[in-house]
This record gives sequence, structure tokens and C-alpha cells, in this order.
Amino acid sequence: MSITDQTPGIAERASLLGSDSAFDVLAEVNRLRAQGRDIISFGIGEPDFPTPPHITAAATTALDEGYTRYGPSDGLPELRAAIAAEVSSTRGIPVDPDQVVVAPGAKPLILYTIATLVNPGEEVLYPNPGFPTYESVARWLGARPVPMPLSEDNGFGCDREALAASMSERTKLIILNSPNNPTGGVLMPDDLRFIADLAIRHNCWVLSDEIYSQLVFDGSFCSIASLPDMQERTIIMDGFSKTYAMTGWRLGYGVMSKRLAPLMARIETNIESCTCSFTQVAGAAALTGPQDEARRFAEEFRKRAEVIVDLLNDIDDVTCVPPRGAFYAFPNVTEACRQMGVGNAEALAHRLLHEAGVAVLPRSCFGSRNVGETDEYVRLSFATSLENIREGVARMKRYIERA
Ligand code: PMP
Repeated sequence: MSITDQTPGIAERASLLGSDSAFDVLAEVNRLRAQGRDIISFGIGEPDFPTPPHITAAATTALDEGYTRYGPSDGLPELRAAIAAEVSSTRGIPVDPDQVVVAPGAKPLILYTIATLVNPGEEVLYPNPGFPTYESVARWLGARPVPMPLSEDNGFGCDREALAASMSERTKLIILNSPNNPTGGVLMPDDLRFIADLAIRHNCWVLSDEIYSQLVFDGSFCSIASLPDMQERTIIMDGFSKTYAMTGWRLGYGVMSKRLAPLMARIETNIESCTCSFTQVAGAAALTGPQDEARRFAEEFRKRAEVIVDLLNDIDDVTCVPPRGAFYAFPNVTEACRQMGVGNAEALAHRLLHEAGVAVLPRSCFGSRNVGETDEYVRLSFATSLENIREGVARMKRYIERA
């Protein structure tokens, strides 16, 4: 008998958590690169720019000034004040610093929110295709995740009929993500009004994941929290990873009613104690300092979106709806798979990685197929240089058209 056979069992809940496959593909890309393979990665969604120097300088100064100790679980007062001012001005709503909870990344807010608001068995609506953590954490916490189908037919915006059909008397929380990962879809103001009406009528909460709010290519960003009677029932989730190229700093926040903030901060007390102190000082510098770099990043992503969409649409049997925001293209590869005799997008992604040297993520990384969904998609993160975009999509074109 091996030692592992003698160890006690593992909790059932351990098998309920899903993965964020972008991280699995990142590990595979790194493994192949370590073997000397030349891989162009459209896998992980993180800006390729360095963090702006005035932000890193603020962190170094903070370290020198002794921001090396525990801080309050809900965040340093100077950062909470800066976030309150920022969210108040960008969403046009009154926000008090007491309504802000700072966290190590925006991601923990998904867990804090579901754990605080949803009882076991109650339903959580999440966008599908969507960021995999919503479904995973909801299931882990005993809630019932219910997919809210997004479809290419309406630019991956809101499918009102499908959304209304997904609601039930058990719906407790609706999760929105606009601009959306992985589709680049953006919810239009009239869609938001429709969703707000549903949320009010069914008396449920809304978690609005606005991590890509600064990356809307056409027109301006609109938050559901800005609509009448919605701020009280909405938790806005945003952060620094995408806007300021700060993924590795782990800094994000939630904005919510004053009743909820202490409850979410209590989870943080129990898990992380607090968010890293000197990164919070840097976060305040990011929000209150010059915005030229953040604007330059956004403009660069807009340009890259145009380039990558044109290049993808130039591949035989591939079609790509232009994303309206974020930094992802989500081309339809159904016909390419058929022509190549490849079973599905997962098999295509596997072949592209191992035979063409290009990493993309298949649709299955972003949830199971919706009922009636038959098309195949892959996601390309264009948070990489124009040079990589041109070379990577050229490799895909050669590979797909040759087959
Ligand atoms: N929400 C979405 C939709 C995301 O794509 C990501 C990052 N991939 C996050 C949340 C997490 O962001 P953070 O780095 O702030 O935890």
C-alpha cells in the first residue's frame, strides 16, 4: 500500500472548483518555450505593456516610507477615497469611501459577492461564454449557476429572450461582464435598462464586472449601476490589472452599498487579512496621477482590434465579428474545423499550438455549450504586439488554408 492510499480522504468540495484554463495554456506555452519551441501566444489576457513608471515609483517610495505592515481589511483610506472619487466620476453616481472594498485583484470580489449574497441552492446567472470563475465559484459555494447565453447573432451583446427565460423565482444574482471576456461584446444602454428592469422585478442583486470599462472602442462605457434604482442592488467590480497594466500587482476593488461592504471585508479578514499595503499606495497614484499612459494603452488596443479582425477575416473559412471592447477577438471557426476534418475548436487549438506554434483558447475554456449552440469558436487575446499579431495570424492562415 502506498503512503497516499493511507492518507485521509479529500473534501467533496475540492472537486467542485473549475480551472481558469488561460493559466493552464500559459503553463503549456512556457513548457514548450523552455524546450526551445517558437510560440506566439494569444492565450493569457494581460496587457503586454509595462506598468507606467510613476506608478512603480509610488510603490518604491511607499516601501521606503514603511508601507510594509498590515492595513485595514477594506483597504487604506487614501485608496478607498481615490476609488470613490474615480467611480463617482466615471459612473456618474455618488460613492462614499465606506462603500469601497479593496482586494488583492478584482477576482476575489466574485467569491466575496456570491458568498455574501447567495444561499445554497439559489441561482446565479452568469454570461456564457464568459469568464470561467463565475460558474466555478458559484458551484463551489453551493449556489446553482445558470448560464445566460450570449450569441454571435447580436454581436455577443444581450439576448433578451434567452436572458428572460433563464430567470426564475430562485434567481438571486445576475453577473454581467461588459465589455465581455472572451467575446468583446458590450451591453448597450437599452440592454442595461432591460436587465435592470428584470433585476428589480425579480428582486435580485447584480454583480457588474467592469474590469474592461476603460477599454470600450466605440462610444462610452455605461454601467448598470448608473441607471435609476440600480446602485443599491449592484456591486461594481473593477481594478488595476487591465487599465494600468498591473496584473501581477494584485489590486482590485468592489463598490457596493454600505450594508454589504463590512460583510465582504470580513471575508477578506478571514482569508487574506488585507491587501498588500504598498501596492495600494501605488493604486492611489494610478488613479490620481496622469492618465496619458492608460489612454495610450486603450488606443493601442483599439488599433490592434481593427488589425486582428481584418487579418482573421482574411483566413478562408474563419469569420470574426469585431469586438466592441476589452482585448479579445472571438472568431467563428466552425467552417475551418469542418474543412480541416478537425472535430471541434479544442482539437483545432491543440493543433495550432503544437503544429503551427500559435496559442489560442477554445470556446470550451469559457463554459459549456449553451442549448442549441453548435458553432465552434476560439479566443485570441490581442494584448500582444502588432508584430506578434501579424506573425501569429499569418501562421494560422498558412496552417488552416493548407489543410
Ligand atoms: N474579470 C474578468 C472578466 C477578467 O477577464 C479578469 C482577468 N482575466 C478578471 C476579472 C480578474 O482581474 P484581476 O487581475 O483584477 O483579478
